[in-house]
Amino acid sequence: MQTALVSGGAGFIGSHLCKRLLQDGCKVICVDNLITGSKENVKDLLLIPQFKFIEQDIAKPIRQLPDQKSKVDYIFHLASPASPNKKSRRSYINYPIETLLANSVGTYNLLELAKKKSARFLYASSSEVYGDPAISPQKEEYFGNVNPVGVRSVYDEGKRFGEAITMAYVRKHNLDARIVRIFNTYGPQMQRDDGRVVSNFINQAIANEQITIYGDGKQTRSFCYIDDMIEGILKAMLIEKVRGGVVNLGNPDERTILELTILIKKMANSQSKIVHEEASEDDPKRRKPDITKAKRILGWEPKLGLEEGLTKTIQYFQSI
Ligand code: UDP
Repeated sequence: MQTALVSGGAGFIGSHLCKRLLQDGCKVICVDNLITGSKENVKDLLLIPQFKFIEQDIAKPIRQLPDQKSKVDYIFHLASPASPNKKSRRSYINYPIETLLANSVGTYNLLELAKKKSARFLYASSSEVYGDPAISPQKEEYFGNVNPVGVRSVYDEGKRFGEAITMAYVRKHNLDARIVRIFNTYGPQMQRDDGRVVSNFINQAIANEQITIYGDGKQTRSFCYIDDMIEGILKAMLIEKVRGGVVNLGNPDERTILELTILIKKMANSQSKIVHEEASEDDPKRRKPDITKAKRILGWEPKLGLEEGLTKTIQYFQSI
């Protein structure tokens, strides 16, 4: 039986990944300090003997895991706050130092562990490395347009550092590592108070509260359903050709935030009023992944359309 360590395993993407790895017959060590993740996300998994939860900040020395003799085959490094919304207590704007450290010191700690254990390593980077992109769609070769001292820089530069150190281990130590750049992802088990656009709009729509568009709503995002994302992450870990490289994972179906508002309002049968609030600082105006490389190397592309994915997500939020 193979063992996978998932940092950030109690977060939105991490908890879905842990569940899938267990279903696929792996032992899973989930490491999370629970500052933005939640034990609620893994409560069903805690009953499974092959699942181990360790409350640990990945940026601190990793003492209790795993012991000298135990083997680790795969390390997925997903731990980091990820929401840019300063109104949410979970946002990286409210955890700026923790975010930088999880992606720098945390990545270093896990790369060292991967080297020691001869484990395969996957770093969960982000479309945020492209900043406010000057080209669209964004290809892996694009270097990005990031404000290094702006409020978002703790995340953007943290992810850029994480990528750089991962590549340093590939070059210097020939580590079996790869990087995925995750674009906007949504689905069940997003935190209700995360401040992300999909969870905010759905919860506002269900409660018939004002739907808050930040800025004019002309900015775009491309939304990938969680199950598709998990499939992409697993393929990126397992397929040999990704070794030492970087691949975009996301759904190229680009929508304006205004379009998303109207769609969610209609689908949730909501009476909500749509209001505009101040735009977020350094908010990227366009975001759309070029997934040519993922299609070619991984044989992967998202299967679920936005409407179908939103139906499942609306049902989830209605049920909790
Ligand atoms: N947004 C919005 N209203 C909200 C939350 C977010 O208009 O209640 C906007 C946000 O300003 C951004 C887009 O939706 O332009 C996506 O935001 P999110 O926080 O989900 O992710 P990002 O892609 O910015 O990391």
